[in-house]
Amino acid sequence: MIYASAGHNPGGLKTDPGAIGNGKREADLTVEFRNLVVEQLKKSGARYISDNDSETLGQYLKRIQTGSGSVVLEFHFDAAANSAATGCTALVGSDADANDKAFAKELVEAAASILQIKNRGMLSEADSHRGRLGLMRESGIVALLEICFISNPSDLSAYEKYKNYLAAKVAAILIKYENLIS
Ligand SMILES: [Zn+2]
Repeated sequence: MIYASAGHNPGGLKTDPGAIGNGKREADLTVEFRNLVVEQLKKSGARYISDNDSETLGQYLKRIQTGSGSVVLEFHFDAAANSAATGCTALVGSDADANDKAFAKELVEAAASILQIKNRGMLSEADSHRGRLGLMRESGIVALLEICFISNPSDLSAYEKYKNYLAAKVAAILIKYENLIS
């Protein structure tokens, strides 16, 4: 089973806008991108579960029953005080195995090449400023993708231009890894 979620939730019980930059809220962008990926998964006939916009991330993580055949991905946008900071990053758990790392690497390479932005590589949650992430405690292949910087206008315009293409590629990667382990 594929699990795809928006990293922040604009309409939940506890409204969480995420980062804000260039007049955009991270939550709106992650919900939009999740929807684009879900559309592609539907088109491909893939089995998936996604978060819904009336629950918090914590409620979603509690609701889903992941196992060894699960592929779990969450979308975020990065932010920095310096508007020149650019690129995409993938995060994996501190217990990541070869499949988690290959999945994350493929995602970040796809985002860098499709958006034509810097590949900031794959980080372990321990090396990220976020510390331990609830998402990483789920079972199966798990990663988090920071698509680009919401604080960088050219990252955002690349996202606007290529988001459909990126969503199709991300859906294809999800399906590939689900086929690999199920
Ligand atoms: Zn975020």
